[in-house]
Amino acid sequence: VIVTVKHNFETAHRLPCLPGKCQSLHGHSWWVEWLFDAPMDENGITLEYGALKKQLRTWVDRYLDHGTMLGHEDNLIEFAPMLGKVFIFGPGGGYPFKPWPTVEAVAEMLGYQASILAGICPIEVRVQETHVNAAIWRAGITNESE
Ligand SMILES: [Zn+2]
Repeated sequence: VIVTVKHNFETAHRLPCLPGKCQSLHGHSWWVEWLFDAPMDENGITLEYGALKKQLRTWVDRYLDHGTMLGHEDNLIEFAPMLGKVFIFGPGGGYPFKPWPTVEAVAEMLGYQASILAGICPIEVRVQETHVNAAIWRAGITNESE
């Protein structure tokens, strides 16, 4: 059975690594959906749904919501103490495995965090940054973008 947990967060980011408008600091109303494949027992129960939901949402609220996501080479890091909540991508940051907070990297990061928090790796993580931009991360498969 595939069970899903959805959550949203209001978070700024910028991508100086890309040419164009994404170089400016801007915010999105992000949506994330985690998909977990879990066996169902005779009582019709897969996993501790309430606890899982709470863990994932609490983490997002604490580290991302109303904060800023920056790459480790972003000059804005210098001003991080003035920005309030900052989550850094790249070496030494909260997610060291990707250097910039692209929607693809955010999807992968939220898959990684879910597997740590829940002890079960999601099979898929869907992240939507705008009505027209989304990325789907799949366990063991390279990223796909829409
Ligand atoms: Zn953006």
